[in-house]
Amino acid sequence: MNVKEMALGWLANRLPTCKEVTKMASYSMEGKLPLRQRFGFRMHLLICGLCLRYVKQLQLMRDVAQQHTAKLTEDPAAPASTLSQRARERMKQTLHASS
Ligand SMILES: [Zn+2]
Repeated sequence: MNVKEMALGWLANRLPTCKEVTKMASYSMEGKLPLRQRFGFRMHLLICGLCLRYVKQLQLMRDVAQQHTAKLTEDPAAPASTLSQRARERMKQTLHASS
């Protein structure tokens, strides 16, 4: 065992497990993760691709949900009317194309 492996092993023993990291992820996004846990959380993500992917997906879902909520509060009628307008245009085009 070389020094790097020993260091990684030492670190791995002190890092949170994948299960703990998935729990920490939502706290981290809300800015509620204590500094001491934040270090372990970040270090774990550096060496664990699965958790990194999980956290990224969680962030993405959060962003989408927030954008969606923002749009709805801006103008409740806008998304629906835009959609139906677009759908109508597409139907028109399809009808013209087939005749
Ligand atoms: Zn992990």
